[in-house]
Amino acid sequence: MVRDMYKLIYKEIKKFDTIVIARHIGVDPDAMASQIALRDAIKLSFPEKRVLAVGTGSAKFKYIGNLDKLENIQNALLIVTDTPDKKRIDISSFDGFCSIIKIDHHPFIERFCDIECIQDTASSACEIIMDLIKNTKLVCDENISRTLFMGLVADSNRFLFDSCSPKTFELVAYYLENYPFKLSETYKTMYKRPLKEVRLEGYISTHMEVTEHGVGYIKITDDIINQYKVDSASAGNMVNNFNFIEEVLVWATITEDIKNEIIRVSIRSRGPRINDVAEQFHGGGHALASGAKVESFEIAMELMNALDKRVKEYLEESFKLKKEDEDGN
Ligand code: AMP
Repeated sequence: MVRDMYKLIYKEIKKFDTIVIARHIGVDPDAMASQIALRDAIKLSFPEKRVLAVGTGSAKFKYIGNLDKLENIQNALLIVTDTPDKKRIDISSFDGFCSIIKIDHHPFIERFCDIECIQDTASSACEIIMDLIKNTKLVCDENISRTLFMGLVADSNRFLFDSCSPKTFELVAYYLENYPFKLSETYKTMYKRPLKEVRLEGYISTHMEVTEHGVGYIKITDDIINQYKVDSASAGNMVNNFNFIEEVLVWATITEDIKNEIIRVSIRSRGPRINDVAEQFHGGGHALASGAKVESFEIAMELMNALDKRVKEYLEESFKLKKEDEDGN
């Protein structure tokens, strides 16, 4: 079934001379790697086509590749990767597109495309692109293989999550075997960071607050961002470094973004579902990795209270299930 979907996507790619690949606002490595790898695979397969990967870039993820400008779009195909809803697509205009394809691993939010390829159990959008390339005549090379690996590794936090299935490892093995690249060099590119970020990590560990039921959160104000000379996106991304704290089941960075006059909340969980809580605050995401933009630290604290309530419910439910199990029910 999924192969039929890939065939349809390939057929659609073949049909168009101009193809634009977009992804979500608030770029992250999986979103960017999925669009760049797909662009490069299409270009390699069909050198005569004009293929653009568009959206706002980030200096932090420049190592993934270069983006293109959205210009002169007519009779084009739009492919949107890693984005479940139309309002979060990072694109300035929808003019000039005749057909839209979605390739995503988020839980379904809305249908806005002619072809919707959604695999919400995949580790990453890059995993789906890996599968798509492997099962169609799209051409790959070592560089594309490495880009896809970087997106997958970033979204699974180096294979930490249950979203990594036997298929994930099979695909990684396939690409490493057929389009090899150096793992140590790749990890160095992705994870080397300046000392100032490590120092900010120390600040976060020291000042993290923990709610009654185990929600760890840190407010990173603009003053702190300036003091540590980091940018607000890098500060927020540090949420990924705070897994496996015994007393904390859900954790969040609450980062002031003065330039955009917004507070960005990035949330992660080791059990309780959090995306529906984030949705109550106009955010969203995956069951265990979500985010929201809020207007003030006060609203961010309301979100922390709602998360604390969610952890409480989760602990009570887990306790009940354990007890039933012990009682032999
Ligand atoms: P982040 O914490 O920014 O890395 O985002 C984690 C996940 O939540 C990603 O899948 C994002 O697409 C999603 N997400 C982050 N912020 C928002 C938002 N404001 N609205 C909806 N989804 C979001």
